[in-house]
Amino acid sequence: MSIQGQCHCRNISYQLEWPHNLDVIPCRACSCSFCTVHGASYTSHPKASLSVGIRVAEEHSIYRFGTETADFHVCSRCGCVPFVTCEIDGQVYAVVNTKTFGSIENYPLEESTADFGNEDVSVRLARRKKFWIPNVSIDIPTQPSAPPRTVE
Ligand SMILES: [Zn+2]
Repeated sequence: MSIQGQCHCRNISYQLEWPHNLDVIPCRACSCSFCTVHGASYTSHPKASLSVGIRVAEEHSIYRFGTETADFHVCSRCGCVPFVTCEIDGQVYAVVNTKTFGSIENYPLEESTADFGNEDVSVRLARRKKFWIPNVSIDIPTQPSAPPRTVE
């Protein structure tokens, strides 16, 4: 299935191609301090692919903390975090925040909680390599940006 999502002001939008033979989308409410304050709940699948489009590059920022191995992609206009990436051996892996799915009620989400706080870095990276989305494209404009769209 194909899932469209975006941040609240639509500066960051994405299309997630989810393996069609799966009838649930498992997601994890991460218990780290950052994800708790954002209420984020992530999903990923090694056979999924993610294509991200960013309208205004200046209003996209990356936040890192803790082990600094993950890039939290934050819309600096509306504050949402639609996805997170991690680069391992030159390859970009991603997880998507299901709270930013368009029409979230339409998808068979199955939420659990996860606490990865005690994982060491090598275990963490190995887990991401195995479970995160390995096909990721991020389109950031290099041209002067279009004026931001009005939020309704
Ligand atoms: Zn936004």
